[in-house]
Amino acid sequence: MKQRLHIVMAASEAVPYAKTGGLADVTGALPQELAKLGHDVILLLPKYRSVADSGRRFRSIARLPIATAEGTEESEIEEDVIQTGFGDSTVRVWTCRHDRFFDRSGLYQEHGADYPDNLNRFAWFSRAVIEVMAYLAGERAWQTDVLHVHDWQTALCAVYLKTVDRHRSEIQNVKTVLTLHNVGYQGIFPGIQFTGTGLPSELFSPAGLEFYDSVNLLKGGIIFTDRITTVSPSYAREILSPEFGFGLEGVLRNRQDQLYGILNGIDSERWNPATDPFLAANYSADEREGKGACKLALQREFSLPEIPVPVFAVIARLSSQKGLDLLEAIIPKFLSYDVQLIVLGTGDPAHETAFREAQKRYPDRMGLYIGFDEKLAHRIEGGADMFIMPSRYEPCGLSQMYSLRYGTVPVVTKTGGLADTVIPFNQKAKSSPKANGFHLASATSESLLAALLEAAEVYRTKEIWNRVIDAGMRADVSWARSARFYEDLFLKLVGEEG
Ligand code: ADP
Repeated sequence: MKQRLHIVMAASEAVPYAKTGGLADVTGALPQELAKLGHDVILLLPKYRSVADSGRRFRSIARLPIATAEGTEESEIEEDVIQTGFGDSTVRVWTCRHDRFFDRSGLYQEHGADYPDNLNRFAWFSRAVIEVMAYLAGERAWQTDVLHVHDWQTALCAVYLKTVDRHRSEIQNVKTVLTLHNVGYQGIFPGIQFTGTGLPSELFSPAGLEFYDSVNLLKGGIIFTDRITTVSPSYAREILSPEFGFGLEGVLRNRQDQLYGILNGIDSERWNPATDPFLAANYSADEREGKGACKLALQREFSLPEIPVPVFAVIARLSSQKGLDLLEAIIPKFLSYDVQLIVLGTGDPAHETAFREAQKRYPDRMGLYIGFDEKLAHRIEGGADMFIMPSRYEPCGLSQMYSLRYGTVPVVTKTGGLADTVIPFNQKAKSSPKANGFHLASATSESLLAALLEAAEVYRTKEIWNRVIDAGMRADVSWARSARFYEDLFLKLVGEEG
């Protein structure tokens, strides 16, 4: 029989308590999936102001002294219990309270400016994680087998366990896994703030947390953790190169043997075309008629002619990572064909302006909504024929997985999670049964235009197009699948000597 693991997951955000990005979706879903596999999981979060807005009820369970470089303060630990819906399995969610640090309107920043004490805030939280594990072992006879931390905010936990806390018997055997969700964000602070970590000064060196005279928390985590994962196998390879490693490629190469890529899954209840309440009609891989009604409703919503031309869509943060300048450059050419384009996004004002101007020029070919609207995102996934994602880099990406599930064929750059989830259609071998989308030959406007026109061409042969849609809708992009990879990694790690 497999071992029932005691897993502590420590993160700076998780759905439904606090969210700024995809990390929160992972830490919201993965603990529940691991619990469904039979493991005992506790999720630790800072008690932000937003935790109260989640509508979840917490009860106080302990007060623990947390010692940092700034002194010792007690923290109230509060508990919420989530029923996973599978048997009687549950996940315990514990928040660690420190109002001066976390009772704020933002998680990491306000009005676009990072909080100046972010190092101290997350060093404190990382210390709290260590003390909670010591408390669990000492007071509740619950020994943590695996501590799973995420991104720079909790990377210090791995450093503490292997350095200043390595002789504490109650937590000595804890194995650590650090997941990198986006290596572009590393937790870099002025060198003078190093004392805030509470670590001995010899660790502020190039072999430790020093990074060009600054402190780099993610670097510390990468050096000291037992295992590293990223959110797709391709991204795990890419971050070993200067183009994607953002200066940490050398450090990552040193730990290459302990680095694994595990794809994220999607929330397959919230993103299910068969039950999605936001769609004009529901449909599934077996009963696809409803998608036609969704398309007509979408064309009407954006005042586009209700004609049977392919509808291409973009839903994205308008940031340079997403490569939308490649699309902007070819809009006049692209829209000279019999196609329609719908864009939903907000972000970089330069992109917003470019899309606004294009929409004014081609009102009967292009629909645009500048803003963030989750329901509209569902309606677009439901109604569009193709989804455009020309990202420069994409650690995993969720939108292309939603698109697959919604029968909206993705056209993507061959990078990171996009390369791992979208299997390209091959013109020559028209029979490739697994093909579920299109790859750009390279990240250029010319390649994007070629891929879009190729998709538009294949769209016209209904029999082949239907096969591409079918392969996508039947692909397994569930969390259940991903969680088994994490389980396997954790079990192997715990089974190791030492
Ligand atoms: P990233 O996390 O880098 O932004 P992902 O593809 O992993 O990219 O996830 C993006 C998520 O955000 C998707 O669920 C997408 O539908 C959603 N999204 C992005 N922009 C918008 C928007 N303007 N309105 C609604 N949803 C959006």
